[in-house]
Amino acid sequence: MQCLRAIFPSKFALTFKPAKSELLSAKQQSSPPPTSMESLQIQGTILTPESGDAYAAALKRNSDLSSLPAKYVVQPAVFADIPPVLAYAASQKPPVEIAVKGGGAHSATWASSDGGIVIDLSKLNKVVLADDKQSISVQGGAYWGDVYEVTSKAQVDVVGSPLWFVGVGGFTLGGGFGPLTSEYGCAVDNLLSATVVLADGRIVKASKHEEPDLFWAIRGGGGQFGVVVEFVFKVYPPVGPISSGILAFPGTEIDKILAIIPEWKKTQTSRERFTMNFSRPAPHFKPSIAILPSVIHDTDGSRAQTVLAPFRDGDVKPVLDKVGSVPDMLTVSHAADAAMAAAPRRLVIRGTLFSDFFPELLKGVWDKWVAFTETSEEVRGSAVLWDLTLPDKMASVPAGETALKRQPYYWMAVQGRSTTDASVQACRDFTASVVQFVREKNAELAGQDMGWFLNMCQGHENPEDVFGENLTRLRKVKAKYDPTKVWSKGLVIEPLVE
Ligand SMILES: Cc1cc2nc3c(=O)[nH]c(=O)nc-3n(C[C@H](O)[C@H](O)[C@H](O)COP(=O)(O)OP(=O)(O)OC[C@H]3O[C@@H](n4cnc5c(N)ncnc54)[C@H](O)[C@@H]3O)c2cc1C
Repeated sequence: MQCLRAIFPSKFALTFKPAKSELLSAKQQSSPPPTSMESLQIQGTILTPESGDAYAAALKRNSDLSSLPAKYVVQPAVFADIPPVLAYAASQKPPVEIAVKGGGAHSATWASSDGGIVIDLSKLNKVVLADDKQSISVQGGAYWGDVYEVTSKAQVDVVGSPLWFVGVGGFTLGGGFGPLTSEYGCAVDNLLSATVVLADGRIVKASKHEEPDLFWAIRGGGGQFGVVVEFVFKVYPPVGPISSGILAFPGTEIDKILAIIPEWKKTQTSRERFTMNFSRPAPHFKPSIAILPSVIHDTDGSRAQTVLAPFRDGDVKPVLDKVGSVPDMLTVSHAADAAMAAAPRRLVIRGTLFSDFFPELLKGVWDKWVAFTETSEEVRGSAVLWDLTLPDKMASVPAGETALKRQPYYWMAVQGRSTTDASVQACRDFTASVVQFVREKNAELAGQDMGWFLNMCQGHENPEDVFGENLTRLRKVKAKYDPTKVWSKGLVIEPLVE
């Protein structure tokens, strides 16, 4: 342990930029592994079930279904706290399972461990905007809300999540589709570099010029290659004012709404997008359709007027119409706070990719969702979400340039929410059947199967259906950086030794 402390002196840790990472690795491998977790002299915190409330709080996730009872939760305070934990876990027979928690938003148990060690990055949440306002450094445990607090004050913007409580880590590693994606691409398209703690304890910088294979893989390959302790993103001038809000329609109008969308898409520009939700809002809990628009650079609100006209002035009229101007992404990211606070916390999410807003496909999902949410009050909080972001910018990145699959596609998500443990399985079955239906129907209507959306996967999906032709390279990169599968949670990529 003393050796490790010498290799990673704490005063360097927060801004650790190892120039000779291989040398560090060689020294480290010659160090004896720590004999116990208790002997680790790290600057951060180690929690066990005996730690009481702090331990219980550290196990909490966005979904109650995502929490597992870890034996240890390690909350690193500096990057250098992580390698000794890895060394300890690897030295045990069998090696102890490691899970990495970023924001804890993922709806599977990928960031939790039953009896293993969770590396909880919540203390590594520093966000620093560069003096020239061209880039922003974000530590691996930050929420997007932490980033937006900084960008809002500095009057700049980044491509991030629509919701503040989603972690920068998991969101970005899975590609990262956000409100600015139609204008600036995905989060991974705006990643300039990253600092990664590898399975063997090395801390390396990855960019187009340093560890290029690693940099390629973490841009869409998920948390399979190391702990990303710092991301550096490209920064843009402010996109506000943003027209944002809700138009809600009774479920009886579903056919008319679905008929408007294909026409609406023909005039869509990269400035505007909307999310469409199928949900049963209180107090009547009747099936309802919500259009949640977001129009950037909308200084006088006129673009929103034009864009929303087909949903206001045609065959249909919203029963709720609240669209206003907000200054920035920080405000947008808090828009759903009240709804989220009221939603059942037993949440399972699945999502998939699809080629187009075919009315037949969406109506099929609508019928399934209405039928399911009618079965009991316990599951009526379940919802379906469709993201209508213009895919052109995302798809303009050449296939193979990042691990994220590239094609013009959209994504959708189905949220199974239940108020009781007894109805959780029904939600799991429902969400699985909906995404399967979307994939199959899309293949039938579009003539091609778009596969799964990693950020909404559950972990048992066939990796080929997520990564397509990038899978072989991902497997080779896995063999190079994690041959023994230290990172064994999530959508696991099998190493391929050449
Ligand atoms: C309500 C809601 C809305 C969402 N909306 C969107 C959306 O609009 N667009 C979109 O793309 N996704 C969206 N997502 C999906 C979200 O991006 C993923 O669930 C993502 O994995 C969450 O990241 P996290 O860090 O909070 O998750 P966690 O649960 O902490 O981690 C998820 C996975 O990422 C790994 N991971 C996290 N941080 C790191 C790190 N720093 N280094 C290495 N591995 C790490 C974990 O080990 C785990 O495997 C949404 C999710 C929710 C719950």
